[in-house]
Amino acid sequence: MLTETEIAGLREKHYNATLTEIIIQHETLACFRIKPDFPFPNFESGQYTTLGLGFWEPRHKDAIPESNLEEKKLSRLVRRAYSVSHPITDSTSNIFDSKEIDFLEFYIVMVIGNENETPPALTPRLFMLQEGDRLHLGEKFTGDYTIHCMEEIVKNDNSLVIFAGTGTGEGPHNHMIWNLLQQGYKGQIASINCVRYKRDLAYENKYRDLEKKHPNLSYHTLTTRESDTLHNKTYIQDYISSGSFEKKIGREMHPEDTHIFLCGNPSMIGIPKIRDGEKIWPEGQKGVIQIMEERGFTMDYAKQIGNIHYEKYW
Ligand SMILES: Cc1cc2nc3c(=O)[nH]c(=O)nc-3n(C[C@H](O)[C@H](O)[C@H](O)COP(=O)(O)OP(=O)(O)OC[C@H]3O[C@@H](n4cnc5c(N)ncnc54)[C@H](O)[C@@H]3O)c2cc1C
Repeated sequence: MLTETEIAGLREKHYNATLTEIIIQHETLACFRIKPDFPFPNFESGQYTTLGLGFWEPRHKDAIPESNLEEKKLSRLVRRAYSVSHPITDSTSNIFDSKEIDFLEFYIVMVIGNENETPPALTPRLFMLQEGDRLHLGEKFTGDYTIHCMEEIVKNDNSLVIFAGTGTGEGPHNHMIWNLLQQGYKGQIASINCVRYKRDLAYENKYRDLEKKHPNLSYHTLTTRESDTLHNKTYIQDYISSGSFEKKIGREMHPEDTHIFLCGNPSMIGIPKIRDGEKIWPEGQKGVIQIMEERGFTMDYAKQIGNIHYEKYW
């Protein structure tokens, strides 16, 4: 067991940021606004950094407990990757001016865990934090899941950019959509979000307001555990392959003028293994990459940039 003095010393040594605000959506879903001690970082929309807390910090009571935590681990940090999200609009429902933001927003779900797996280490600790508390924020912002690959498309008013996320996979899309709207992008933007319950859509109200002001933006939601959808689930893959999505947006997706961004659950994305240049698709339901490659789209692979971009969270 560490003493209070030892814990204070470890916090002083490792923590370099302050949690300035927590916007709680419900007990296991929240937006964390964090202000770094270091100068506000330069990064691209869609990139991620790390958040960290010491193993000495308390855990949320609802998460599977960590039994037999090794003594030597107690003074270490647990760090995980988090995409930078964005509040998108200010209190007057207008697009946030970039200069006004002095915090980083992260959209995070608390993982409860289950008896058969190693208990989740970071999120049960993050969800114990209060406004004003300190934590570790990585100084390196990185990742290729960005909109820089579509510079030519941004200039084209006939283009279509689709963001599809499961759960908190919406986070990086919020930053990218804010960026596109702030630049005055006139092409069509669609954001599709699949969650368990309606209450898991923390940004929906903002998007409903935005849709009124930006007719080129549409926000699509799918739930899988509400009573009306529990026995009739529509996943993102179904919404796309059935043609319902194209019907809803009133146009077809074509590789020449469409970019698709996929983030979150690996089953939704469906990344193939590549052996000797051949794609071996995951078993079970087709993921969006396979569905779209069968329609002539190409995924990013190594240094080759396609029109399907993806980031898996686990
Ligand atoms: C590049 C990148 C960016 C990420 N950005 C985010 C983000 O913005 N918001 C976010 O909530 N998570 C994000 N994650 C996941 C995050 O890094 C952690 O894995 C997650 O918060 C769980 O950490 P943990 O220590 O509590 O659990 P761990 O001990 O790491 O347990 C991991 C298990 O939790 C589950 N899991 C992980 N992430 C999620 C999730 N988002 N939703 C549902 N189940 C999940 C999976 O079953 C996984 O096997 C990102 C991951 C990567 C690789």
